[in-house]
Amino acid sequence: MQTVSDAISRPPALDRAPKIGFVSLGCPKALTDSELILTQLRAEGYETSKTFAGADLVIVNTCGFIDDAVKESLDTIGEALAENGKVIVTGCLGAKAGDDGGNLVRKMHPSVLAVTGPHATNEVMDAVHLHSPKPHDPFFDLVPAVSGQGIGVKLTPRHYAYLKISEGCNHRCSFCIIPSMRGDLVSRPIGDVLGEAQRLFEAGVKELLVISQDTSAYGVDVKFRTGFWDGRPVKTHMTDLCEKLAELAAKHGAWVRLHYVYPYPHVDQILPLMASGGILPYLDVPFQHSHPDVLKRMKRPANGEKNLERLLRWREASPELVIRSTFIAGFPGETEAEFEHLLGFMREAQIDRAGCFAYSAVDGATANDLPGMLPIEVREERRARFMAVAEEVSAAKLRQRIGATMQVLVDSAPALGRRGGVARSYADAPEIDGSVKILPPEKASKTLKVGEFARVKIVGTQGHDLVGTLV
Ligand code: SF4
Repeated sequence: MQTVSDAISRPPALDRAPKIGFVSLGCPKALTDSELILTQLRAEGYETSKTFAGADLVIVNTCGFIDDAVKESLDTIGEALAENGKVIVTGCLGAKAGDDGGNLVRKMHPSVLAVTGPHATNEVMDAVHLHSPKPHDPFFDLVPAVSGQGIGVKLTPRHYAYLKISEGCNHRCSFCIIPSMRGDLVSRPIGDVLGEAQRLFEAGVKELLVISQDTSAYGVDVKFRTGFWDGRPVKTHMTDLCEKLAELAAKHGAWVRLHYVYPYPHVDQILPLMASGGILPYLDVPFQHSHPDVLKRMKRPANGEKNLERLLRWREASPELVIRSTFIAGFPGETEAEFEHLLGFMREAQIDRAGCFAYSAVDGATANDLPGMLPIEVREERRARFMAVAEEVSAAKLRQRIGATMQVLVDSAPALGRRGGVARSYADAPEIDGSVKILPPEKASKTLKVGEFARVKIVGTQGHDLVGTLV
Protein backbone atom coordinates (compact mmCIF):
# COMPACT_ATOMS: atom_id res chain seq x y z
CA MET A 1 0.00 0.00 0.00
CA GLN A 2 1.26 3.44 -0.79
CA THR A 3 1.11 5.75 2.18
CA VAL A 4 0.97 9.50 2.25
CA SER A 5 4.68 9.74 3.01
CA ASP A 6 5.72 8.42 -0.42
CA ALA A 7 3.30 10.57 -2.34
CA ILE A 8 3.66 13.85 -4.17
CA SER A 9 3.72 17.33 -2.71
CA ARG A 10 0.35 18.76 -1.76
CA PRO A 11 -1.46 20.85 -4.44
CA PRO A 12 -2.97 24.16 -3.32
CA ALA A 13 -6.50 24.08 -1.85
CA LEU A 14 -9.26 25.19 -4.21
CA ASP A 15 -11.48 28.16 -3.37
CA ARG A 16 -14.52 25.86 -3.55
CA ALA A 17 -15.36 22.43 -2.18
CA PRO A 18 -13.50 19.79 -4.21
CA LYS A 19 -15.67 17.31 -6.08
CA ILE A 20 -14.94 13.62 -5.71
CA GLY A 21 -16.09 11.01 -8.21
CA PHE A 22 -16.83 7.68 -6.56
CA VAL A 23 -17.34 4.21 -8.00
CA SER A 24 -18.37 1.38 -5.68
CA LEU A 25 -17.91 -2.14 -7.03
CA GLY A 26 -18.31 -5.50 -5.35
CA CYS A 27 -20.33 -7.03 -2.53
CA PRO A 28 -22.43 -5.47 0.25
CA LYS A 29 -19.35 -5.46 2.51
CA ALA A 30 -17.54 -3.27 -0.01
CA LEU A 31 -20.67 -1.11 -0.21
CA THR A 32 -20.53 -0.41 3.53
CA ASP A 33 -16.85 0.60 3.15
CA SER A 34 -17.97 3.00 0.40
CA GLU A 35 -20.65 4.40 2.69
CA LEU A 36 -18.07 5.09 5.42
CA ILE A 37 -15.75 6.90 3.00
CA LEU A 38 -18.60 8.94 1.47
CA THR A 39 -19.85 9.80 4.96
CA GLN A 40 -16.42 11.07 5.91
CA LEU A 41 -16.09 13.03 2.65
CA ARG A 42 -19.43 14.69 3.25
CA ALA A 43 -18.63 15.42 6.89
CA GLU A 44 -15.48 17.21 5.77
CA GLY A 45 -17.31 19.31 3.19
CA TYR A 46 -16.30 17.53 -0.01
CA GLU A 47 -18.88 17.33 -2.77
CA THR A 48 -19.48 14.41 -5.10
CA SER A 49 -19.43 14.38 -8.88
CA LYS A 50 -21.57 12.17 -11.06
CA THR A 51 -18.98 12.11 -13.83
CA PHE A 52 -15.27 11.34 -13.89
CA ALA A 53 -14.60 14.40 -16.02
CA GLY A 54 -16.41 16.76 -13.64
CA ALA A 55 -14.49 15.53 -10.57
CA ASP A 56 -11.30 16.87 -9.04
CA LEU A 57 -10.34 13.32 -8.08
CA VAL A 58 -11.89 9.87 -8.41
CA ILE A 59 -12.00 7.06 -5.84
CA VAL A 60 -12.61 3.52 -7.11
CA ASN A 61 -13.64 0.94 -4.49
CA THR A 62 -12.70 -2.35 -6.12
CA CYS A 63 -13.56 -6.02 -5.87
CA GLY A 64 -10.93 -8.69 -6.33
CA PHE A 65 -12.82 -11.91 -5.73
CA ILE A 66 -13.30 -13.58 -9.11
CA ASP A 67 -11.60 -12.95 -12.42
CA ASP A 68 -14.56 -11.05 -13.89
CA ALA A 69 -14.64 -8.73 -10.87
CA VAL A 70 -10.89 -8.11 -11.16
CA LYS A 71 -11.32 -7.23 -14.84
CA GLU A 72 -14.25 -4.91 -14.13
CA SER A 73 -12.26 -3.14 -11.40
CA LEU A 74 -9.13 -2.75 -13.54
CA ASP A 75 -11.22 -1.48 -16.49
CA THR A 76 -12.98 1.05 -14.26
CA ILE A 77 -9.65 2.34 -12.92
CA GLY A 78 -8.45 2.65 -16.54
CA GLU A 79 -11.55 4.63 -17.52
CA ALA A 80 -11.22 6.94 -14.53
CA LEU A 81 -7.55 7.55 -15.35
CA ALA A 82 -8.36 8.28 -18.98
CA GLU A 83 -11.19 10.68 -18.20
CA ASN A 84 -9.87 12.29 -15.04
CA GLY A 85 -6.26 11.33 -14.37
CA LYS A 86 -6.36 11.59 -10.55
CA VAL A 87 -7.44 8.24 -9.13
CA ILE A 88 -7.29 6.65 -5.67
CA VAL A 89 -7.94 2.92 -5.50
CA THR A 90 -9.28 1.14 -2.43
CA GLY A 91 -10.97 -2.22 -1.69
CA CYS A 92 -10.13 -5.88 -2.05
CA LEU A 93 -8.26 -5.61 -5.34
CA GLY A 94 -5.98 -3.02 -3.75
CA ALA A 95 -4.69 -5.73 -1.40
CA LYS A 96 -3.97 -8.19 -4.18
CA ALA A 97 -0.49 -9.09 -5.37
CA GLY A 98 0.39 -9.55 -9.04
CA ASP A 99 2.42 -12.44 -10.50
CA ASP A 100 5.70 -10.79 -9.52
CA GLY A 101 4.58 -10.37 -5.90
CA GLY A 102 4.17 -6.57 -6.27
CA ASN A 103 0.85 -4.74 -6.02
CA LEU A 104 -1.43 -5.78 -8.91
CA VAL A 105 -3.20 -2.41 -9.29
CA ARG A 106 0.10 -0.50 -9.31
CA LYS A 107 1.48 -2.91 -11.88
CA MET A 108 -1.50 -2.50 -14.24
CA HIS A 109 -2.04 1.22 -13.60
CA PRO A 110 1.21 2.76 -12.34
CA SER A 111 -0.20 6.30 -12.43
CA VAL A 112 -2.83 5.85 -9.70
CA LEU A 113 -2.26 8.26 -6.83
CA ALA A 114 -2.69 5.79 -3.96
CA VAL A 115 -3.76 2.21 -3.38
CA THR A 116 -5.24 0.80 -0.17
CA GLY A 117 -6.85 -2.49 0.80
CA PRO A 118 -10.45 -2.83 2.06
CA HIS A 119 -11.95 -1.08 5.13
CA ALA A 120 -9.33 1.65 5.01
CA THR A 121 -11.35 4.86 5.39
CA ASN A 122 -8.53 6.68 7.18
CA GLU A 123 -5.88 5.83 4.57
CA VAL A 124 -8.24 6.82 1.76
CA MET A 125 -9.01 10.12 3.48
CA ASP A 126 -5.29 10.77 4.01
CA ALA A 127 -4.75 10.32 0.28
CA VAL A 128 -7.74 12.55 -0.55
CA HIS A 129 -6.41 15.30 1.75
CA LEU A 130 -3.03 15.06 0.08
CA HIS A 131 -4.19 15.19 -3.52
CA SER A 132 -7.29 17.34 -3.24
CA PRO A 133 -7.11 19.38 -0.04
CA LYS A 134 -10.37 20.82 1.12
CA PRO A 135 -10.62 24.60 1.61
CA HIS A 136 -10.73 25.78 5.20
CA ASP A 137 -14.34 26.11 6.26
CA PRO A 138 -14.93 27.77 9.62
CA PHE A 139 -18.15 25.82 10.10
CA PHE A 140 -17.24 22.37 8.81
CA ASP A 141 -13.85 22.43 10.47
CA LEU A 142 -15.62 22.55 13.85
CA VAL A 143 -17.78 19.54 13.09
CA PRO A 144 -16.32 16.38 14.58
CA ALA A 145 -15.70 13.38 12.34
CA VAL A 146 -18.67 11.05 12.16
CA SER A 147 -17.17 7.92 10.64
CA GLY A 148 -18.64 4.88 12.38
CA GLN A 149 -20.77 7.03 14.69
CA GLY A 150 -23.73 8.50 12.82
CA ILE A 151 -25.75 6.80 10.13
CA GLY A 152 -23.78 8.68 7.50
CA VAL A 153 -24.15 8.35 3.77
CA LYS A 154 -26.08 5.32 2.63
CA LEU A 155 -25.82 3.92 -0.89
CA THR A 156 -28.98 1.85 -0.51
CA PRO A 157 -32.53 3.27 -0.79
CA ARG A 158 -33.79 4.95 2.39
CA HIS A 159 -35.88 1.99 3.50
CA TYR A 160 -33.22 -0.68 3.74
CA ALA A 161 -29.64 -0.75 4.94
CA TYR A 162 -26.76 -3.15 5.42
CA LEU A 163 -25.36 -3.54 8.93
CA LYS A 164 -21.82 -4.88 8.90
CA ILE A 165 -21.08 -6.68 12.16
CA SER A 166 -17.53 -7.86 11.51
CA GLU A 167 -14.70 -7.76 9.01
CA GLY A 168 -12.49 -10.57 7.77
CA CYS A 169 -12.71 -14.30 8.31
CA ASN A 170 -10.88 -16.96 10.33
CA HIS A 171 -11.58 -19.72 7.81
CA ARG A 172 -9.37 -20.69 4.93
CA CYS A 173 -11.73 -22.13 2.32
CA SER A 174 -9.49 -23.44 -0.40
CA PHE A 175 -11.28 -21.58 -3.23
CA CYS A 176 -11.35 -18.20 -1.46
CA ILE A 177 -8.81 -15.41 -1.11
CA ILE A 178 -10.95 -13.09 1.00
CA PRO A 179 -8.96 -13.72 4.22
CA SER A 180 -5.77 -12.75 2.42
CA MET A 181 -7.44 -9.50 1.35
CA ARG A 182 -9.57 -8.69 4.40
CA GLY A 183 -7.61 -10.41 7.17
CA ASP A 184 -8.83 -12.49 10.11
CA LEU A 185 -12.18 -11.96 11.81
CA VAL A 186 -12.56 -8.67 13.68
CA SER A 187 -15.97 -8.28 15.31
CA ARG A 188 -17.33 -4.79 15.87
CA PRO A 189 -18.20 -4.02 19.49
CA ILE A 190 -21.78 -5.06 20.17
CA GLY A 191 -22.67 -1.62 21.57
CA ASP A 192 -21.52 0.04 18.31
CA VAL A 193 -23.46 -2.43 16.17
CA LEU A 194 -26.67 -2.00 18.17
CA GLY A 195 -26.19 1.78 18.28
CA GLU A 196 -25.91 1.88 14.48
CA ALA A 197 -28.98 -0.36 14.14
CA GLN A 198 -30.99 1.96 16.37
CA ARG A 199 -29.94 5.06 14.41
CA LEU A 200 -30.82 3.38 11.13
CA PHE A 201 -34.27 2.40 12.39
CA GLU A 202 -34.81 5.91 13.75
CA ALA A 203 -33.87 7.30 10.32
CA GLY A 204 -36.65 5.30 8.69
CA VAL A 205 -34.93 2.05 7.70
CA LYS A 206 -37.55 -0.69 7.49
CA GLU A 207 -35.27 -3.59 6.65
CA LEU A 208 -31.87 -4.19 8.18
CA LEU A 209 -29.62 -6.69 6.42
CA VAL A 210 -26.96 -8.13 8.71
CA ILE A 211 -23.76 -8.86 6.78
CA SER A 212 -20.23 -10.11 7.45
CA GLN A 213 -18.08 -12.90 6.00
CA ASP A 214 -19.32 -15.30 8.68
CA THR A 215 -22.25 -14.03 10.74
CA SER A 216 -22.38 -17.17 12.92
CA ALA A 217 -18.80 -16.48 14.08
CA TYR A 218 -19.62 -13.02 15.45
CA GLY A 219 -17.63 -12.48 18.67
CA VAL A 220 -15.32 -15.50 18.33
CA ASP A 221 -12.26 -13.23 18.02
CA VAL A 222 -13.08 -11.38 21.27
CA LYS A 223 -14.07 -14.59 23.07
CA PHE A 224 -17.69 -13.41 23.13
CA ARG A 225 -16.73 -10.65 25.55
CA THR A 226 -19.48 -8.77 27.33
CA GLY A 227 -20.08 -5.30 25.99
CA PHE A 228 -22.68 -2.70 26.91
CA TRP A 229 -25.78 -1.48 25.19
CA ASP A 230 -28.37 0.86 26.65
CA GLY A 231 -26.63 0.61 30.04
CA ARG A 232 -26.93 -3.17 30.16
CA PRO A 233 -24.37 -5.95 29.63
CA VAL A 234 -24.72 -7.84 26.32
CA LYS A 235 -22.48 -10.61 25.03
CA THR A 236 -20.71 -10.20 21.68
CA HIS A 237 -22.44 -13.27 20.32
CA MET A 238 -24.73 -13.95 17.38
CA THR A 239 -27.69 -15.08 19.49
CA ASP A 240 -27.52 -12.06 21.84
CA LEU A 241 -27.13 -9.76 18.84
CA CYS A 242 -30.21 -11.27 17.17
CA GLU A 243 -32.32 -10.96 20.32
CA LYS A 244 -31.46 -7.28 20.71
CA LEU A 245 -31.94 -6.55 16.99
CA ALA A 246 -35.34 -8.23 17.16
CA GLU A 247 -36.33 -6.01 20.11
CA LEU A 248 -35.19 -2.87 18.29
CA ALA A 249 -36.89 -3.87 15.04
CA ALA A 250 -40.16 -4.59 16.86
CA LYS A 251 -40.17 -1.05 18.30
CA HIS A 252 -39.85 0.39 14.79
CA GLY A 253 -42.02 -2.10 12.94
CA ALA A 254 -39.05 -3.19 10.83
CA TRP A 255 -37.49 -6.36 9.44
CA VAL A 256 -34.12 -7.92 10.25
CA ARG A 257 -32.60 -10.32 7.71
CA LEU A 258 -29.50 -12.46 8.27
CA HIS A 259 -26.88 -13.13 5.59
CA TYR A 260 -23.81 -15.41 5.49
CA VAL A 261 -24.89 -17.72 8.28
CA TYR A 262 -22.91 -20.97 8.64
CA PRO A 263 -24.82 -23.95 10.00
CA TYR A 264 -23.20 -24.14 13.44
CA PRO A 265 -25.24 -25.66 16.27
CA HIS A 266 -25.87 -22.31 17.99
CA VAL A 267 -27.80 -21.10 14.93
CA ASP A 268 -30.58 -23.44 16.19
CA GLN A 269 -31.19 -20.91 18.97
CA ILE A 270 -32.16 -18.22 16.44
CA LEU A 271 -34.99 -20.31 15.00
CA PRO A 272 -37.53 -19.55 17.76
CA LEU A 273 -36.92 -15.83 17.08
CA MET A 274 -37.73 -16.50 13.44
CA ALA A 275 -40.82 -18.50 14.26
CA SER A 276 -42.11 -15.62 16.40
CA GLY A 277 -41.30 -13.03 13.70
CA GLY A 278 -38.57 -11.13 15.60
CA ILE A 279 -36.07 -11.96 12.86
CA LEU A 280 -37.27 -12.75 9.33
CA PRO A 281 -37.51 -16.52 8.76
CA TYR A 282 -34.90 -16.26 6.01
CA LEU A 283 -31.40 -17.62 6.17
CA ASP A 284 -28.67 -17.03 3.65
CA VAL A 285 -26.43 -20.07 4.19
CA PRO A 286 -23.60 -20.45 1.68
CA PHE A 287 -23.44 -24.27 1.61
CA GLN A 288 -21.27 -24.45 -1.57
CA HIS A 289 -21.64 -28.27 -1.71
CA SER A 290 -23.27 -31.19 0.10
CA HIS A 291 -20.81 -34.03 -0.23
CA PRO A 292 -18.60 -34.33 2.87
CA ASP A 293 -15.45 -35.13 0.87
CA VAL A 294 -15.89 -32.11 -1.40
CA LEU A 295 -16.61 -29.90 1.61
CA LYS A 296 -13.39 -31.17 3.22
CA ARG A 297 -11.42 -30.41 0.07
CA MET A 298 -13.03 -26.98 0.09
CA LYS A 299 -12.03 -26.64 3.80
CA ARG A 300 -15.51 -25.31 4.50
CA PRO A 301 -16.53 -24.18 7.96
CA ALA A 302 -18.97 -26.59 9.63
CA ASN A 303 -18.03 -29.26 7.07
CA GLY A 304 -18.55 -32.01 9.64
CA GLU A 305 -22.11 -30.88 10.40
CA LYS A 306 -25.02 -32.91 9.14
CA ASN A 307 -26.41 -30.08 7.07
CA LEU A 308 -29.48 -31.81 5.71
CA GLU A 309 -30.65 -32.97 9.15
CA ARG A 310 -29.96 -29.55 10.64
CA LEU A 311 -31.92 -27.88 7.86
CA LEU A 312 -34.90 -30.17 8.31
CA ARG A 313 -34.85 -29.41 12.07
CA TRP A 314 -34.75 -25.70 11.30
CA ARG A 315 -37.80 -26.07 9.08
CA GLU A 316 -39.63 -27.88 11.89
CA ALA A 317 -38.79 -25.06 14.32
CA SER A 318 -39.80 -22.35 11.82
CA PRO A 319 -42.04 -23.78 9.08
CA GLU A 320 -42.01 -20.54 7.06
CA LEU A 321 -38.21 -20.62 6.82
CA VAL A 322 -36.78 -19.69 3.42
CA ILE A 323 -33.23 -20.77 2.65
CA ARG A 324 -31.00 -19.03 0.15
CA SER A 325 -27.68 -20.55 -0.73
CA THR A 326 -24.82 -20.58 -3.20
CA PHE A 327 -23.04 -23.63 -4.61
CA ILE A 328 -20.00 -24.46 -6.69
CA ALA A 329 -20.27 -27.10 -9.42
CA GLY A 330 -17.20 -28.85 -10.81
CA PHE A 331 -14.85 -28.24 -7.88
CA PRO A 332 -11.44 -29.89 -8.49
CA GLY A 333 -11.74 -33.65 -8.12
CA GLU A 334 -15.57 -33.62 -7.99
CA THR A 335 -16.73 -37.03 -9.19
CA GLU A 336 -20.03 -37.61 -10.97
CA ALA A 337 -21.24 -39.40 -7.81
CA GLU A 338 -20.32 -36.41 -5.63
CA PHE A 339 -22.14 -34.12 -8.03
CA GLU A 340 -25.22 -36.39 -7.98
CA HIS A 341 -25.08 -36.14 -4.17
CA LEU A 342 -25.35 -32.37 -4.56
CA LEU A 343 -28.38 -32.68 -6.86
CA GLY A 344 -30.01 -35.06 -4.35
CA PHE A 345 -29.32 -32.56 -1.55
CA MET A 346 -30.96 -29.77 -3.56
CA ARG A 347 -34.10 -31.84 -4.06
CA GLU A 348 -34.33 -33.02 -0.46
CA ALA A 349 -33.31 -29.79 1.22
CA GLN A 350 -35.73 -27.86 -0.98
CA ILE A 351 -33.46 -24.82 -1.11
CA ASP A 352 -35.79 -21.94 -1.95
CA ARG A 353 -33.25 -19.76 -3.73
CA ALA A 354 -29.97 -21.09 -5.07
CA GLY A 355 -27.17 -19.64 -7.12
CA CYS A 356 -24.40 -21.74 -8.63
CA PHE A 357 -20.98 -20.95 -10.06
CA ALA A 358 -19.03 -23.30 -12.29
CA TYR A 359 -15.72 -23.60 -10.43
CA SER A 360 -13.25 -21.04 -11.65
CA ALA A 361 -9.70 -20.83 -10.37
CA VAL A 362 -9.06 -17.64 -8.42
CA ASP A 363 -5.48 -16.37 -8.45
CA GLY A 364 -3.84 -17.16 -5.14
CA ALA A 365 -6.42 -19.74 -3.96
CA THR A 366 -5.01 -23.02 -2.59
CA ALA A 367 -7.68 -25.01 -4.50
CA ASN A 368 -5.64 -24.31 -7.65
CA ASP A 369 -3.11 -26.89 -6.42
CA LEU A 370 -5.71 -29.63 -5.86
CA PRO A 371 -5.53 -32.59 -8.23
CA GLY A 372 -8.37 -33.34 -10.64
CA MET A 373 -9.15 -29.96 -12.24
CA LEU A 374 -12.15 -30.65 -14.46
CA PRO A 375 -12.44 -29.41 -18.04
CA ILE A 376 -14.41 -26.18 -18.28
CA GLU A 377 -17.14 -27.89 -20.36
CA VAL A 378 -17.76 -30.39 -17.52
CA ARG A 379 -17.92 -27.61 -14.92
CA GLU A 380 -20.34 -25.59 -17.06
CA GLU A 381 -22.46 -28.62 -17.88
CA ARG A 382 -22.78 -29.47 -14.15
CA ARG A 383 -23.67 -25.89 -13.35
CA ALA A 384 -26.45 -26.00 -15.94
CA ARG A 385 -27.75 -29.33 -14.58
CA PHE A 386 -27.66 -27.95 -11.04
CA MET A 387 -29.56 -24.80 -12.05
CA ALA A 388 -32.23 -26.87 -13.83
CA VAL A 389 -32.92 -28.73 -10.55
CA ALA A 390 -32.67 -25.54 -8.49
CA GLU A 391 -35.15 -23.75 -10.73
CA GLU A 392 -37.56 -26.67 -10.56
CA VAL A 393 -37.46 -26.61 -6.74
CA SER A 394 -37.72 -22.85 -6.59
CA ALA A 395 -40.60 -22.62 -9.09
CA ALA A 396 -42.58 -25.30 -7.21
CA LYS A 397 -42.06 -23.42 -3.95
CA LEU A 398 -43.20 -20.17 -5.54
CA ARG A 399 -46.35 -21.84 -6.90
CA GLN A 400 -47.23 -23.00 -3.36
CA ARG A 401 -47.61 -19.34 -2.41
CA ILE A 402 -50.49 -18.70 -4.84
CA GLY A 403 -53.54 -17.80 -2.80
CA ALA A 404 -51.53 -16.70 0.27
CA THR A 405 -51.59 -13.18 1.66
CA MET A 406 -48.14 -11.79 2.37
CA GLN A 407 -46.69 -8.69 3.95
CA VAL A 408 -44.38 -6.94 1.47
CA LEU A 409 -42.03 -3.96 1.57
CA VAL A 410 -42.51 -1.64 -1.41
CA ASP A 411 -39.36 -0.87 -3.46
CA SER A 412 -40.96 0.93 -6.38
CA ALA A 413 -44.39 2.49 -6.89
CA PRO A 414 -44.76 4.73 -9.95
CA ALA A 415 -47.70 7.15 -9.78
CA LEU A 416 -48.31 6.21 -6.11
CA GLY A 417 -48.79 2.63 -7.16
CA ARG A 418 -51.69 3.37 -9.50
CA ARG A 419 -49.68 1.61 -12.19
CA GLY A 420 -48.75 -1.16 -9.76
CA GLY A 421 -45.38 -1.57 -8.13
CA VAL A 422 -42.54 -3.84 -7.11
CA ALA A 423 -42.10 -5.09 -3.59
CA ARG A 424 -40.38 -7.87 -1.66
CA SER A 425 -41.68 -10.33 0.88
CA TYR A 426 -39.66 -11.85 3.74
CA ALA A 427 -38.51 -14.45 1.20
CA ASP A 428 -36.72 -11.91 -1.01
CA ALA A 429 -33.50 -10.12 -0.11
CA PRO A 430 -32.80 -7.03 -2.21
CA GLU A 431 -30.62 -7.45 -5.30
CA ILE A 432 -30.18 -11.23 -5.05
CA ASP A 433 -33.68 -12.76 -4.86
CA GLY A 434 -36.94 -12.31 -6.74
CA SER A 435 -39.65 -9.79 -5.99
CA VAL A 436 -43.41 -9.46 -5.72
CA LYS A 437 -44.94 -7.59 -8.66
CA ILE A 438 -48.03 -5.73 -7.55
CA LEU A 439 -50.75 -5.33 -10.18
CA PRO A 440 -52.38 -1.91 -10.65
CA PRO A 441 -55.13 -1.64 -8.00
CA GLU A 442 -58.75 -1.67 -9.18
CA LYS A 443 -59.75 1.10 -6.77
CA ALA A 444 -57.97 4.42 -7.27
CA SER A 445 -58.10 4.94 -3.48
CA LYS A 446 -55.55 2.17 -2.97
CA THR A 447 -52.05 3.58 -3.18
CA LEU A 448 -48.52 2.37 -2.58
CA LYS A 449 -45.55 4.21 -1.16
CA VAL A 450 -41.89 3.25 -1.48
CA GLY A 451 -40.49 2.11 1.87
CA GLU A 452 -43.85 1.21 3.35
CA PHE A 453 -45.31 -2.19 4.03
CA ALA A 454 -48.39 -3.46 2.20
CA ARG A 455 -50.43 -6.64 2.20
CA VAL A 456 -50.70 -8.51 -1.05
CA LYS A 457 -52.68 -11.53 -2.17
CA ILE A 458 -50.53 -13.74 -4.40
CA VAL A 459 -52.30 -14.55 -7.67
CA GLY A 460 -49.52 -16.02 -9.80
CA THR A 461 -45.84 -16.44 -10.53
CA GLN A 462 -43.60 -14.98 -13.22
CA GLY A 463 -40.11 -16.53 -13.48
CA HIS A 464 -38.45 -15.99 -10.10
CA ASP A 465 -41.10 -13.49 -9.02
CA LEU A 466 -44.58 -13.59 -7.53
CA VAL A 467 -47.49 -11.53 -8.80
CA GLY A 468 -50.08 -10.18 -6.39
CA THR A 469 -52.90 -7.72 -5.81
CA LEU A 470 -53.21 -5.27 -2.94
CA VAL A 471 -55.63 -6.30 -0.20
S1 SF4 B 1 -15.88 -18.58 5.10
FE1 SF4 B 1 -14.58 -19.33 3.46
S2 SF4 B 1 -15.55 -18.47 1.59
FE2 SF4 B 1 -16.30 -17.30 3.31
S3 SF4 B 1 -14.87 -15.55 3.47
FE3 SF4 B 1 -14.16 -17.14 4.88
S4 SF4 B 1 -12.63 -18.26 3.71
FE4 SF4 B 1 -13.87 -17.10 2.22
